[in-house]
Amino acid sequence: MQTKTQLEDLQNYLTDASNMPGGHAERLFLPETADEISEILREANGRKIPVTISGARTGTVGGAIPFGGYVISLERLDRIIEIDKENKTAVLEPGVILADLQKAAEAEGVFYPPDPTEWSCQVGGTVATNASGSRSFKYGSTRNYVERLKIVLAEGDVLEIRRGEYVFDDGEPLELVAKSGRRIALKPPSYVRPNVRKNVSGYFNAHPFDAIDLFIGSEGTLGVIVEVGLRLLEKPKGLFSGIVFFEESDDLLSFVEESKRLSFENRKNPPADAGGSALDASLIEYFDDRALKFISEKFPETPDYMAGAIFFEQETTEETEDRLFEAWNELFEKHNVDIERSWFTMTEQDRERMRAFRHALPVSVNERVVRNKQKKIGTDMAVPDERFAGFLKYQKEMLDASAIDYVIFGHIGDCHLHANLLPKNEEEAGRSRHIYGRFIAQAIMLGGCVSAEHGIGKLKRKYLNAMMGERYLNEMIEIKRALDPNFILGRGNVFDSKYM
Ligand SMILES: Cc1cc2nc3c(=O)[nH]c(=O)nc-3n(C[C@H](O)[C@H](O)[C@H](O)COP(=O)(O)OP(=O)(O)OC[C@H]3O[C@@H](n4cnc5c(N)ncnc54)[C@H](O)[C@@H]3O)c2cc1C
Repeated sequence: MQTKTQLEDLQNYLTDASNMPGGHAERLFLPETADEISEILREANGRKIPVTISGARTGTVGGAIPFGGYVISLERLDRIIEIDKENKTAVLEPGVILADLQKAAEAEGVFYPPDPTEWSCQVGGTVATNASGSRSFKYGSTRNYVERLKIVLAEGDVLEIRRGEYVFDDGEPLELVAKSGRRIALKPPSYVRPNVRKNVSGYFNAHPFDAIDLFIGSEGTLGVIVEVGLRLLEKPKGLFSGIVFFEESDDLLSFVEESKRLSFENRKNPPADAGGSALDASLIEYFDDRALKFISEKFPETPDYMAGAIFFEQETTEETEDRLFEAWNELFEKHNVDIERSWFTMTEQDRERMRAFRHALPVSVNERVVRNKQKKIGTDMAVPDERFAGFLKYQKEMLDASAIDYVIFGHIGDCHLHANLLPKNEEEAGRSRHIYGRFIAQAIMLGGCVSAEHGIGKLKRKYLNAMMGERYLNEMIEIKRALDPNFILGRGNVFDSKYM
């Protein structure tokens, strides 16, 4: 196994997409097997050396940034072990790049839905963050597809866990058995998670509770994921996609509301006479007027003077496409879509361009903040459906009043938007942080969560504290302690070091 200690070799492993400064480490390990990872952890645990797990470092909350100790990079555990198209399953090592898995699945005629916009991430990273994205509107987050995990625990032993293997109900003690035979008793959490469509704020809980879900979204704090078993789906036969533009915000919001309502209703009770051709969006993504101006720097064909746009996708087949076009057209007309200037496609090439349009926004935002020599202040909260319109209005009004540059975009189908504040100087940066704090407080007050998809990492710990409160945070810490008694893994992620 290769290890590195020179600063120039470590440099790339000291930062991630958060650009959080100050990362440092003593040693980088590039293991090629799970046994090597066990060895590293046994030694680190014995000497109480902190260990940071590094995926592709596309995370935006500093989760993969080390502050001392060892870094384990998973990049050399990058084999797709199997794609079984008959049973629609895949087994892979964690360092496989998500785009490579998606391409390999597609070549076999199957489909892996999680789509966190940034396809250069590793599959292990997406499991550790329970990544989600635009298509989560129909397909849910990464959690929905994880069937089996192999994990190296902090003390070096291995836990293999299948969905359904360790399921516990209210009040029952939870006991995991490592491959070595070691038994690990955990106290299941008692907190109730907010009633939102997406949430990666703290350890998962549900009733009944499947212990595999504890590791999904645990942000490198409970073990190193060294093998992943996934469930796949049949590849959609066709897709109808569009980016539709609106002159009025009210029209846009009523379009979103109706397309969501129809999608949920038709998914739950498919109309018997529709022959599979009932409207059911797989993604509904939002761009506000400012986001469109931003994107027009890279896509000059973006229409001017629009209040906003929606990017949608609908699965089709030869038999259903005509009726589906009709159903969507009715919605476009009813909600005053500017049809002339909107874009529609059924081809993969144009769809890629639409995805590139969507991807261009966070990338351009990141470039702008770097140019301004400031940090992006980006929200990632979600609120319950019935609170969403009011929350968006609250954010827009406060941002407009601030005169700070901003864009709002994201997963409107899941009531989860990113408001990105782009301060130009220190004074604006201070006010942006203050506004961010107000949004967090408002989201918590409305029964929402502080992070819907990017995670807590090192940057959002205090907001998790505010959301969970001391009692429930302590329940999470007890779980952490049972699995990692010396708090070596992902130190600084999720919990403040004062809890060690
Ligand atoms: C432009 C842009 C857009 C993005 N859009 C989205 C989006 O729409 N939705 C979304 O969910 N995310 C999004 N992200 C965030 C990011 O892509 C995801 O969080 C991704 O899942 C991280 O994967 P990674 O391999 O880069 O992990 P890293 O950033 O390397 O690590 C993330 C966390 O997971 C831990 N970790 C990594 N690998 C393992 C492992 N094998 N075992 C245990 N712990 C591990 C790390 O310690 C760290 O805490 C976006 C990022 C960018 C830059």
